[in-house]
Amino acid sequence: MSFNDFNFNTHISKAIQECGYTAPTPIQKQAITPILERRDLLGLAQTGTGKTAAFILPTVQHLMATSGKHVRVLIVAPTRELAEQINDFTKTIIQGTRLRTMAIYGGVSKLAQVTRIRNGVDIVVACPGRLLDIVNDKAIDLSHVETLILDEADHMFDKGFLPDIRRILRQIPRERQSLVFSATMPGEIRHLAEDILNNPVTVQINPSRSVKSISHQVYAVEQGQKTELLVHLLKLDHIETTLVFTRTKFKAKNLALKLTQAGFKATSLQGNLSQNKRQEALDGFKDGTFKILVATDIAARGIDVTGISHVINYDMPDTAEAYIHRTGRTGRAACTGEALTFATHEDNRMVRTIEQSLDGKMQRQPVDPAVLASRHAEPDVRSNERGRRMPAGNKTKTASSSPRPRNRSAAAGVFGFTGRSK
Ligand code: AMP
Repeated sequence: MSFNDFNFNTHISKAIQECGYTAPTPIQKQAITPILERRDLLGLAQTGTGKTAAFILPTVQHLMATSGKHVRVLIVAPTRELAEQINDFTKTIIQGTRLRTMAIYGGVSKLAQVTRIRNGVDIVVACPGRLLDIVNDKAIDLSHVETLILDEADHMFDKGFLPDIRRILRQIPRERQSLVFSATMPGEIRHLAEDILNNPVTVQINPSRSVKSISHQVYAVEQGQKTELLVHLLKLDHIETTLVFTRTKFKAKNLALKLTQAGFKATSLQGNLSQNKRQEALDGFKDGTFKILVATDIAARGIDVTGISHVINYDMPDTAEAYIHRTGRTGRAACTGEALTFATHEDNRMVRTIEQSLDGKMQRQPVDPAVLASRHAEPDVRSNERGRRMPAGNKTKTASSSPRPRNRSAAAGVFGFTGRSK
C-alpha cells in the first residue's frame, strides 16, 4: 500500500513528500481510509507509530474539501509539548492553504491566545485546562466543531483531565466525527470512548511492532553506581542524542547538572520548570545545543525529537507501559535506536514484566568493574563534590569526590544479574 491509494488532494500529497514519508506506517494504513470516510475511530497506538499523520492528513483533506468560518477541528492533548507537536505538524501540512491552526495551553499569555481565536482559526490543538478556562470566559465558540480528536486519552486520565474533557464535550455538537487515540485501554477510557464514539472502527497497533527497530539492553548496577555507568556510556562514541529518564524531578535536575559539570551538553526537562525554561530545554535538545536531555516521565510525554539515538532508563519505570512509552522516543518511524536500562536487584521483577510486554528478552550487558572505579555521587545524595567543569567532549575521566574503597561484592552482584534474571 502507498500514500497514492488514499487519493489525497495534490496539496496533501506534496506535503507528504516534503515530510519525506515514502510509505504509510501500519496505523496510517489502517486508520486513514475510515477517517476519510468520516467514520469514528478508536486507535490503540502509542506515540512513535505515526499516529499524528494518521489523523491529521485525512482531517485536513476534509477541511480543504468543505468550508466554514469557525473552529471546525478540535484536538485535545494532555501536554503542552504534545499539543505543540501536533500543531507544528498541522502547520506543515496546511502551509499554503487558507486554513489556520493554533495551540492552546496554560503557562503562557491567555490574552494572546484569545486574540488569535478572535482573528479566526479552523483547527485548535488544546490542553484541557486552558481550553476550559477560555470556554468559561466565553472567548471561544466550539458549536461548529465537525471533528473531535482526543490524543493520548490514557494520559488525560492519568493527569485527572477526564472531568474537564466531559465539560468540553458539552460545548461541541453531537453530530460530529470523533477519533480517540490511546496507547492503553483502562476501564475509564473504555467508558469515555463508548460515550464519545458512534459505531467506531477500531485500529490496534501491537506495541511490539512499533518497538521493533529498538534494541533493548539492560545493565545490572547498584543504585550508587548508576552515575558512573551513565558517564561511561555517554562517553562512548556512538551515543549521540540521548534522552535519560529519572524517577523524580529533583534527580532529573541534579543529574543534568552533574553531567554538565562532567563536560556534557546536558539539560533537564522536569515539572518544576517555567514554560519558557521547558521550551528552552526542548528547543536546545531539538537543535543540538544539548545532546542529553534528562527528564521525568510526565515532563517527557509527547516529546517528538527525531533522531534520538538512545533512551537511557537511569531509573526503572514503574510499569511496562511506561517503559514502552519511554523507549518509543528512540527508533521512531524510519530510524533505529537503543534503549539502555539500569536495573538494580529490586528491579528484576520489572525487567521480566517488560520482557513479557516486549515479547522478547532484553539483552544483558556486562558492566566492566573498571568502569565503576571512579565514583560519581548519586545526584540525590548531597556530596562535597567540587564539580570541576571540563570542556565538552573531553574523554578523560571526570573529577570525582574523594574516592572511597570500591565494593568488590557489588561488582560481583552486577555480573551475577544475567544468570539470576533468566
Ligand atoms: P507520531 O507517532 O505521530 O508521534 O510519529 C512519530 C514519528 O514518525 C514522527 O517523527 C513522524 O514525523 C514520523 N512519521 C510519521 N509517519 C511517517 C511515515 N509514513 N514515514 C516515515 N516517518 C513517519
